[in-house]
Amino acid sequence: MEKINKSLNVHSIKKNLMMLIFILPILLCSCKDDNFTVNEIGNLTQSMILNGECAFGDDGILLSNNSHLTFFNPESNTEISLCTRADCYHSTSECDAYIGSLRHMLLVNKCIYYLTMRKQDGIGKFKLNCMDCTGNNRKELAEVNEALDIEGFIYGDNLLSFSTRTYYDKDGNELEKTKSRMFTYDLNTGKLCELFSGEGFKLKFTPLYLENGVLWYFKDYTTEPFLFKNFNYDEWEKIFRSELHKFVISTKEDTIIHTHKISEDIAVDRCFYFINDVQAPVMIDMRTGEKKALPLSGSSYRFYLEEYNYLVYCSDQKFNLISFSDGEKNVKEIEGMISIATGKYVYGFYNSYQSYMDIKDLIKGKNNWKKCNIEGLPENQETK
Ligand SMILES: [Zn+2]
Repeated sequence: MEKINKSLNVHSIKKNLMMLIFILPILLCSCKDDNFTVNEIGNLTQSMILNGECAFGDDGILLSNNSHLTFFNPESNTEISLCTRADCYHSTSECDAYIGSLRHMLLVNKCIYYLTMRKQDGIGKFKLNCMDCTGNNRKELAEVNEALDIEGFIYGDNLLSFSTRTYYDKDGNELEKTKSRMFTYDLNTGKLCELFSGEGFKLKFTPLYLENGVLWYFKDYTTEPFLFKNFNYDEWEKIFRSELHKFVISTKEDTIIHTHKISEDIAVDRCFYFINDVQAPVMIDMRTGEKKALPLSGSSYRFYLEEYNYLVYCSDQKFNLISFSDGEKNVKEIEGMISIATGKYVYGFYNSYQSYMDIKDLIKGKNNWKKCNIEGLPENQETK
């Protein structure tokens, strides 16, 4: 612990100096990158929540920075506002990039799809909206009533998929069982479709991956409501279950692929699903359903860098790189923490800063992290 505290103090001094160094140029020039415009923003097909709402991809990070949308371009290490008005300081709700509070967003074919929530008499309502990359042409696409939580927001087969949960009925009365519903929104037809729904104690569906008409998702629930009400940590394992499911959209055929105890270590990286069983860790490719044994037992696998056939695993809170084929012979320690991998970059935290690294450098063991030049970057994000 002492070591950690010391290093944090050193970091905070460094950080203050670094902040000055970084803030000065930001104040002196507008943070626009002349070589990059919003029209060049490509497709981001992953989304995740990471201290606020960000979508990560090969092209960069779409983020809600102080309620305004910006795009971070790793090529030039610059952040640009999605508002193109020359006379705007992007600081008020009048700005084209103003987004307010949002839950999830994705960028698909130069359109930003985002989910917002409104509470009405204790009953939540979600809206699916879209806008172009200049913050204009905003449209409301669909609405889901009786929804207080939203889980996941993924894209595949020209569909968006998300799941909602509620604990109240239409009249605002608390339900004994949670109601969870899985939706798709068809970008071709503009139709919102409820794929399936369920009621259960603490029931939660989370969409993970969608391709070729097959949706992979998690189902979490409590098996023993009585034990849950009189909650005791010793009983934790007995009462929570999490299942990996495969759902065929056309036939509604639903298959349980794996059942987890709550303590079991699992991870999802794009289409790769890791079951970090202590004795026999396995990776499932959700595109094909193929299961592959992983080289080291007792490790927490997090990412598969498919193009290079390398795996990233975590052990004693340290990230390591390992060749899928060579196994133990070729373990490289990674400095910092990886939180998401795309085909081209890994994004994560190095010296507590949101940073990124080209996967090619990672594979070479270079640890060539670059701090993301994002204005007002939240600090100290080492915790997952
Ligand atoms: Zn603006």
